[in-house]
Amino acid sequence: MATKKNTAAEEAAKKALETVEKEKSAKKTARASKEEILAATKKNARPYRILAFVFWFLALAAEVMAILVFAKKIDIPTITTTAESSYPVGWWITWIAFLVLDLIFLIIGSSCWKKGNHLDPASAKNKTRFWLHNNLGIFVAALCFIPFIIIALLDKNADKKAKTWAAVIAAVALALGVTTSIDYNPISQEEMLNNAATYEKVYWLDKGEVFHAFDECQYVHGKELNTGSGEEAVKAGKTRICKVCEKKIQDGLVPDDMNEKEWTDLLNSAAQAASGAASGAAAD
Ligand SMILES: [Zn+2]
Repeated sequence: MATKKNTAAEEAAKKALETVEKEKSAKKTARASKEEILAATKKNARPYRILAFVFWFLALAAEVMAILVFAKKIDIPTITTTAESSYPVGWWITWIAFLVLDLIFLIIGSSCWKKGNHLDPASAKNKTRFWLHNNLGIFVAALCFIPFIIIALLDKNADKKAKTWAAVIAAVALALGVTTSIDYNPISQEEMLNNAATYEKVYWLDKGEVFHAFDECQYVHGKELNTGSGEEAVKAGKTRICKVCEKKIQDGLVPDDMNEKEWTDLLNSAAQAASGAASGAAAD
């Protein structure tokens, strides 16, 4: 009798141990898959992030040139010496042209930065950091025009008309730079990982940043499509779901290749994983 009891207890202990081991290995797999996804998305984003810094640097260089021309620190013969006026047309054209270049480079840099963040989103666990990261271009925009405005306004040699125009033009450029540098449609790393884990079969075009849950979607219907799992879509740079497909799911449609029960189970497990990750992060 005693031996049998022992065996039963041993069996139970063995089973418990097995369950723990299974859970551990499942967690490990999940983590490995997350690391793999993040490695892929970082790689996708890298060229855009490098380009962002290159163009932002060019924008700042153009600002420096605008400042030097405005302050007449650069003696370009056709600008400063040929005209009789102390503010020849060439002088106006040159510093304004540098401000325009400043703005163009800033906009290109900021859109590369945003593209990089859409391919490899930042974590939204810290809301402030998430916002700062997505909207870094706003601060670059400030750097691209505010020093010019200050220096132009403080310039003792410039007359009032030149100062006013300099401030107005640079302020307009600053406003354009800020509004185009804001990311109005950011995505978080959590949302992306959730997408990778949730969808079994999705569709995407070579162009664009979204995947589709339905091949009947108006945006992809009749077009040549790539097909794969949510994870594959994310790795291919499609980190978010198309708005139309998202709406269909919210309205209760079940994505292709899934039955209703599978879909509900998946949604539930994704929600659980998300809350688990959140509490895990809190424990960190
Ligand atoms: Zn769609």
